[in-house]
Amino acid sequence: MKGGKLIIFSAPSGSGKTTIVRHLLKQFPDKIDFSISATSRAKRGIEENGKDYFYFSADEFRQRVENKEFLEWEEVYAGTHYGTLKSEVERIWKTGKAVIFDIDVEGGLNLKSQFKGDALAIFVMPPSIKILEERLRLRQTDSPESIVRRIAKAEKELKTAELFDVFIINEVLEEACKKAEEVVLNFLRKR
Ligand code: 5GP
Repeated sequence: MKGGKLIIFSAPSGSGKTTIVRHLLKQFPDKIDFSISATSRAKRGIEENGKDYFYFSADEFRQRVENKEFLEWEEVYAGTHYGTLKSEVERIWKTGKAVIFDIDVEGGLNLKSQFKGDALAIFVMPPSIKILEERLRLRQTDSPESIVRRIAKAEKELKTAELFDVFIINEVLEEACKKAEEVVLNFLRKR
């Protein structure tokens, strides 16, 4: 698949990458659009189908894997699948915009290896694991077991940060957003 550019945000859950991605979408609505992932997990809080994710049953997800509808997909947590639909990326490229992704570290590196120079892979770092844990608790969207799982995964993911093109430490959110604006604009200006 060949087309436009890809901007990949990957980070441990709770590091603030979703907030940064939303900020960029608001700042540059005519330049970038969000790739809505598919997931087999249940809807959370005020999430909407076709806006935050496409929610598929485990069976439907499997069927779409068999149909080769995904650019990448993964079992991010045991029994829960997430994936990037080829149709999403094509839809956005057709409008002349770059695609922005909020995906986990493995998925991000997978896309980077497929699209190389057409992709910018950005890793958002939490200031520390302790702060990450606090943020997940404050978010009040995850059970204690889910937080433990997310922290264990974060510890592994932090070790892969150097495989990304850029990393942004999210200590003060406004500063992280500004830095993200800069790197994204630089990348979009490049031919
Ligand atoms: P959450 O359940 O908190 O929405 O997401 C859990 C993790 O799955 C996050 O790290 C999120 O970035 C990741 N994720 C979301 N969509 C995708 C996707 O399409 N592919 C991959 N590999 N990971 C994804």
